[in-house]
Amino acid sequence: MKIIMLGAPGAGKGTQAKLIAEKYGIPHISTGDIFRANIKAGTDLGKEAKEYMDKGQLVPDELTVRILLDRVLADDCADGYVLDGFPRTIPQAEVLDTEVAKLGDKIDLAIDVNVPDENIIRRMSGRRACPKCGATYHVEHIPPKKEGICDACGAELVLRDDDKPETVKKRLEVYHKQTQPLIDYYSRLNILRTVDGTKDMKDVFADIEKLLGE
Ligand code: ADP
Ligand code: ADP
Ligand code: ZN
Repeated sequence: MKIIMLGAPGAGKGTQAKLIAEKYGIPHISTGDIFRANIKAGTDLGKEAKEYMDKGQLVPDELTVRILLDRVLADDCADGYVLDGFPRTIPQAEVLDTEVAKLGDKIDLAIDVNVPDENIIRRMSGRRACPKCGATYHVEHIPPKKEGICDACGAELVLRDDDKPETVKKRLEVYHKQTQPLIDYYSRLNILRTVDGTKDMKDVFADIEKLLGE
């Protein structure tokens, strides 16, 4: 099963992608996580990506496509994967389609997690991320058991550099201009499904389970 998560920054793509990956036993691939891991490790890729990420802009397609294809061509992806944060532009989607077709395969479903802009800004200021294992929490909606500490690995949680309100606004603009056209793109391919991302995390997942079949 090959699944794409679409949605604005902060819509809950990552949260839902992790649940899908766990339930269906497929890898969760987040280009944002790959970039952040590279920034933390101080690689050249990380240095280049950070310049764009800090401004709320997209990392250029060429660089992003290269790291994504590297990852989806790995052995553990043969039975499927859930992509979170990729594609974010039409050219990225076209490359993905072409590469998947070369393997005699196709993307099964693009799930749009729909959340209006007004909710997004509020959500992002409460997002806390684990710099060690990538787990994501929300101070009000999805709090960790112990304040400021990751349930999964015990590391101290942080507010992401790009989750400041000014940067979030820019990211939303970029989303509407560059990423939203993908909704039409996958709709034309007949694989788009929309879920209401303003519901509780568990209810959103229940809706996704219905789409995927048990
Ligand atoms: P969010 O989960 O809030 O949508 P991500 O972790 O997916 O954020 O992405 C963080 C940043 O990483 C983006 O704002 C962008 O700069 C960069 N990025 C991630 N995925 C892509 C992509 N597919 N194309 C270009 N840039 C990307
Ligand atoms: P994305 O990957 O789309 O940027 P995340 O999954 O990181 O989004 O979620 C953004 C923030 O909103 C996080 O703090 C997360 O814990 C929280 N969140 C996710 N889903 C929900 C939900 N259904 N209701 C309320 N908050 C949510
Ligand atoms: Zn952790």
